[in-house]
Amino acid sequence: MRLLIVEDEQRLALSLARGLRAEGYAVDVVHDGLEGLHRAGEGAYDLVLLDIMLPGMNGYRVCATLRAAGNEVPILMLTAKDGEYDEAEGLDTGADDYLTKPFSYVVLVARVKALLRRRGRSAAPVLRVGALAVDQGARRVERDGTEVALTAKEFAVLEQLALRAGEVVSKAEILEHVWDFAYDGDVNIIEVYVSALRRKLGAGHIVTVRGAGYRLVAGA
Ligand code: CA
Repeated sequence: MRLLIVEDEQRLALSLARGLRAEGYAVDVVHDGLEGLHRAGEGAYDLVLLDIMLPGMNGYRVCATLRAAGNEVPILMLTAKDGEYDEAEGLDTGADDYLTKPFSYVVLVARVKALLRRRGRSAAPVLRVGALAVDQGARRVERDGTEVALTAKEFAVLEQLALRAGEVVSKAEILEHVWDFAYDGDVNIIEVYVSALRRKLGAGHIVTVRGAGYRLVAGA
């Protein structure tokens, strides 16, 4: 899951990003409304955290412009405490939810998870591939009914494979959804995570398709 934070208060933006990364999300941060609009418009995001008072273009206009263009990415608006803007106005421009500053980090994470769940409701919240059950809401994995402890990043890599079980998923595609754009390292970092997943889940589940990527199968 990949999130975009559009917030010009740099300290707040960075602390949000740090916390959400610890939850296993890939997080990109921009500090300007226009840049936020361009990034969100690229379509690679599962959720956008959008401040209202922003340089370049305000959050309402960013949201309304995305919706007018048919972009349905879930948007969580971050509103100012003094209420200079009406919460209802934020929702009218197409935001899915709003959070009034200052908010607790715990509440933010709960809202983010709820929005991501709501979005995925049409799909099964638990992805089943053979003996594996990948629970996207709870961020946990079971093999034959027994929980397998994964790091947040390992889970995120497995989730990308499970979302397209049976298909070949390239390293670049995994990287795009699991790592943020600040990551400029080697795409082969994915191999490290796949090795860890094979060690924990058993070797038969993740098949290497040489030169193309990986495929999650029901396995042995
Ligand atoms: Ca602001």
